[in-house]
Amino acid sequence: MSSYTPIQPPIHDSALSLIGHTPLVRLDRIAREEGLECNLLAKVEGFSAGGSVKDRIALRMVEEAEKDGRLIPGYSVLVEPTSGNTGIGLALVAAVKGYRCIITMPEKMSKEKSNTLKALGAEIYRTPTEAAWDSPESHISLAKRIVESTPGAVMLDQYNNPANPDAHYHHTAVELLQAVSSVPATPNRPSSGTVDVIVAGAGTGGTLSGLSKRLREANPNLISLGVDPVGSILARPESLNVLKDGESAIYKVEGTGYDFVPAVLSHDAVTHWIKSADPLSFATCKRLIRTEGLLVGGSSGASVGAALEWLKSDEGWNKVGGVKGMNVVVVLPDSLRNYITSTWLNDEPTPAAAKQGDAGVQEDLGDVS
Ligand code: PMP
Repeated sequence: MSSYTPIQPPIHDSALSLIGHTPLVRLDRIAREEGLECNLLAKVEGFSAGGSVKDRIALRMVEEAEKDGRLIPGYSVLVEPTSGNTGIGLALVAAVKGYRCIITMPEKMSKEKSNTLKALGAEIYRTPTEAAWDSPESHISLAKRIVESTPGAVMLDQYNNPANPDAHYHHTAVELLQAVSSVPATPNRPSSGTVDVIVAGAGTGGTLSGLSKRLREANPNLISLGVDPVGSILARPESLNVLKDGESAIYKVEGTGYDFVPAVLSHDAVTHWIKSADPLSFATCKRLIRTEGLLVGGSSGASVGAALEWLKSDEGWNKVGGVKGMNVVVVLPDSLRNYITSTWLNDEPTPAAAKQGDAGVQEDLGDVS
């Protein structure tokens, strides 16, 4: 049986049963400001034990590999290339289960992630951000070399491992369906009783693919909105990925976007793609924090920004945004803990300081991005 516990026990045996079971929160203040008629809901993954949407896949990949004998407790070494959150999930599972854990991660990813990994006992290797995925310098190539030279090393490989989307198919999606179906519709709060639109950023694509498949089984009319940063190549049609005048291929949002298509990303499961740009992503992230009190990370802002853009488009408004009772769920993948000293959080004067024309009084948190 999986350690993933469907019902919260009165006393937890370990941090592993604190993985998942994340809250679904109404973004009513933002929905009101935008004049939306639909229900705008957020799955807030920062509440999971390791602080992100990737905890569930870490636990599932480890437990599936233990079941089929690829991982041997007390002997095997976990090695994984990651943008950080899968690494934190794996390091957490490794800490509780007693595995050694080695993580490779591009330099771009925040200092907070590497500090969290270190605290969990992981060994970390940083690689150049600009390295193409298949170049010898990339975090993926380095992880493969470490596996070759380390006795007992196993790469669970989130890019190709079906346990990645399966974790969202079996757990995250089921949590969502239980939540939306258990809240009765009232005249003040109409509800379709199902998920009508799912919005998720794509890194490996595991979240988007796993959720879309399961939610579509419950609602064949599901609209699945994938969010991909400008500069990445995951969106379809591919013409969306061509840079327009003035656009850069470099994006600061962490965790989404790639320069190759991971095998676990099922394009078939996604009905719409939206490209996200850093300025709107970070502005929307700050808005989520200030308006809704949700302490989330940059890719959450990207997904909510994209959701609002689509819901207010002609198609989005007519099908969903202007329709009472439609349930739109946006996945907010991680929390501010990962970015507390990042410049995007601190690149504008506070309103009080701006009013006094004295932005200099604002505390400088420094740049570690
Ligand atoms: N946002 C953040 C902050 C992430 O760390 C990730 C995982 N890389 C994602 C979004 C995307 O998740 P997935 O890999 O399931 O596509």
